[in-house]
Amino acid sequence: MIPPPMVDFDIDLNPERVEEERMEGGSMLYCDLCDTEVVHKLAQMLLPGLATSCVDSTTGSFKTPGSMAVDLRKEMIIYITQRSETFVAESIVLEGGPSGEESDHPFDIISNFVDDFAISKRNFFTRVSGMLLTDMREDKIDDFVQEMEITGFWPLDRRETIAEAILKNIDMKNEFHCAMKFGSAEDLADHAIHCNFRPLFCDNEGCNAKFIAKHLEKHDSICPFKIIPCEQKCSDNIMRRAMDRHCITICPMRLVDCPFHSIGCRSAIAQCVVEKHCADDVRSHLWHLLKGMYKQASGEDLQRRVQQIVQASPGSRLAEARNVRSLNLVVKDIEAKLGPLELGSAKKNSAQTVVKNGDGKNVANGSEERTESYMESKSSEVNTQKSM
Ligand SMILES: [Zn+2]
Ligand SMILES: [Zn+2]
Ligand SMILES: [Zn+2]
Ligand SMILES: [Zn+2]
Repeated sequence: MIPPPMVDFDIDLNPERVEEERMEGGSMLYCDLCDTEVVHKLAQMLLPGLATSCVDSTTGSFKTPGSMAVDLRKEMIIYITQRSETFVAESIVLEGGPSGEESDHPFDIISNFVDDFAISKRNFFTRVSGMLLTDMREDKIDDFVQEMEITGFWPLDRRETIAEAILKNIDMKNEFHCAMKFGSAEDLADHAIHCNFRPLFCDNEGCNAKFIAKHLEKHDSICPFKIIPCEQKCSDNIMRRAMDRHCITICPMRLVDCPFHSIGCRSAIAQCVVEKHCADDVRSHLWHLLKGMYKQASGEDLQRRVQQIVQASPGSRLAEARNVRSLNLVVKDIEAKLGPLELGSAKKNSAQTVVKNGDGKNVANGSEERTESYMESKSSEVNTQKSM
């Protein structure tokens, strides 16, 4: 059983340090804005760091992690603060040295401080028992983190205050905090409304994101609530998070199968041009339909029949057919007048088939010679053939 840790807020702040910073600039006023996202991440990392120290220092003893929490929290704050204060000097000494490959992101640097502290708190039992690699230890640490969260042992805003101070200590290049100085309160106020580190809320309706001004563009480029033009270039503007759904459900530019897919048209077309496709490709659809009806017919027979049907079709009935059933009805009507299909050239050209070319139009793929002689013999049809 881990008893609830005592709540002790007094040690979190280090008023002397804060005062020291104020004094350094003399009468100058500092902009104290910083990267609140990094601060938040750091503050979150402090709790498991403390839990690890508490668990590893009490394993195998009669003490509970909770009994160590107050003391270790204080020690840890002092330790990581000191490390952050000497960090700049250390980095200058080490510059160009062999350890230049380490990450210079503040999160990694401060994680290392916290890890070093936790390692220094491992007791003898933890070090020799093989305990470090067990799931049991991980579970104990997770449980203790949870317990500290529930009891409010080390509230987030307190941890953020510490994280912010440490971040400012190690951020030499001012990448994560603003350190501009101003001679008057007015100048500082003028700067504050333009400062790269000023906190902003996302403008997009429904979005609660908060970020620093520096990251406005980055957030805007991924904000799930931003209204953006359709990715498939229909005329709609859609919320980014609804884009995928729009594109596959209601977008007029979504690709759909041709209504004559079941009889063999393999065109994928934008939903908004299905009607146009049905009208434009009526010969191809007719050919597929007839192929299913006249299994014995050659490609040439079918082409001839397509031609006859198109010529005999009154008005635009064929072009208006939007599915196999309605096309079939129109064709039946016309065929009743045309009479049965003659399989005249079936023997001669039995090997000839018709395939779809790159333009989505039907062409005979028999030898050129044969196609040419066929075209000549059907000179009356040449013009319409060409227009296919
Ligand atoms: Zn600033
Ligand atoms: Zn947003
Ligand atoms: Zn769309
Ligand atoms: Zn089609």
